[in-house]
Amino acid sequence: MSAQLRLYNTATREISDFKPLQPGKVGIYLCGATVQAPPHIGHVRSGVNFDILRRWLTASGFDVTFIRNVTDIDDKILHKAVHEEIPWWAVAQKYERAFTDAYRALNVLPPTYEPRATGHISQMVELMQLLIDNGSAYAPGNGDVYLEVRKLSSYLTLSRQKLDDLQSAEDAEETFKRDPRDFALWKAAKPGDPSWPTPWGAGRPGWHLECSAMAHAYLGESFDIHGGGLDLIFPHHENEIAQSQSAGWGFAQTWMHNAWVTASGEKMSKSLGNSLQVHEILKRVRGVELRWYLGSAHYRSMLEFSFEALEEASVNFRRIEGFLKRAKEVLGDLPDNQIPQDFADAMNEDLAVPTGLAVISELLRSGNTALGANDVAGVAHSASNIRGALSILGCDPFDEAFVQGGDDQTQLLDGLISLALEQRTEARARKDFTAADAIRDQLTELGVVIEDTAAGTRWSIN
Ligand SMILES: [Zn+2]
Repeated sequence: MSAQLRLYNTATREISDFKPLQPGKVGIYLCGATVQAPPHIGHVRSGVNFDILRRWLTASGFDVTFIRNVTDIDDKILHKAVHEEIPWWAVAQKYERAFTDAYRALNVLPPTYEPRATGHISQMVELMQLLIDNGSAYAPGNGDVYLEVRKLSSYLTLSRQKLDDLQSAEDAEETFKRDPRDFALWKAAKPGDPSWPTPWGAGRPGWHLECSAMAHAYLGESFDIHGGGLDLIFPHHENEIAQSQSAGWGFAQTWMHNAWVTASGEKMSKSLGNSLQVHEILKRVRGVELRWYLGSAHYRSMLEFSFEALEEASVNFRRIEGFLKRAKEVLGDLPDNQIPQDFADAMNEDLAVPTGLAVISELLRSGNTALGANDVAGVAHSASNIRGALSILGCDPFDEAFVQGGDDQTQLLDGLISLALEQRTEARARKDFTAADAIRDQLTELGVVIEDTAAGTRWSIN
């Protein structure tokens, strides 16, 4: 595929030709999870969006090194440890595994490397030493280390703010700062909290320092793409740039940010987030269907969540899957994947997935026509092109990730419970309420919660 990939760069606010630093190779750093709670769909949207980018770069012939870190030390993790009455590292392990399970269920490819912050303390100490030695950072003597932001003329260029307009950093009550807007690279140990030794006192890393040090460790001083959610532009990414450029590194060439999943127009709140945890949603739809839904919007567009929209996306996906299954019956074996040119053109224009989905819809229409007309060549053409496009979206229903394991069981469970609910609806229709109630009671006993709504009966597992 020779066409030029163009990407939107948050740093320039423009779509421009993507030119890797080394021909044929791409290095990507994506900010990963702070592992302090189970993932909700807002968390994994970023994983899905950047997995599509990675698959597209690979299909375009690039050798991709993909880093997604794990922030396994953080205030929120320490609070959760107190709340759950388990050690902080057990909290981090537990939720890291929950994220890994969610990524696997959604067919998000494992990163090339997945560094944990606590495994890279020595690189963080080295970076701080460099910044102190060259006068960019200071250790006031209490165990903290700060970056002196006014020394860096390019500070705040990513978020396009002025230093004079900037409010004090979140920990501004600190009296050890030379300027209230300076931010912490390192935080002095508090009694009872985990800490690591440094020449400036024991403590633990600030979140921003972690990502600069890990990106440098795996991708070098300069690399191609840095990604994350929109809410990370400031302060996180701005501070990563400040640290890295103060160290003399070029750092990321292109900055890419995915938009949020919203509910009622707002970024998903924590309370709502509970019902939208990935493992809860996966009781309603299969992993491939949730991925199809999350990947269907353009990565820079907000995705307004509703169960109706999720259901609609699932139905649309099942139509495509149904065609491919029938095509397989007709053809015996499905032909090799082919990436349609129109789809490739859409992906090359800042990953225009919605345009790509229109290409798939058109192929589905012609494929179904070909099935009806016993046009074997037409069926084969549609099937190979649809599968080619789906493979980039990570949604090929014949992908082993979806064919094996839990997905089949989820489908079976969904079928069985739907069957029982149909029986209950029929019993109620003939006014046999004893039978209807008995079905509901038996399902409840099995842990299936039934909810009658205006839109029909919903179920979930307790
Ligand atoms: Zn980060």
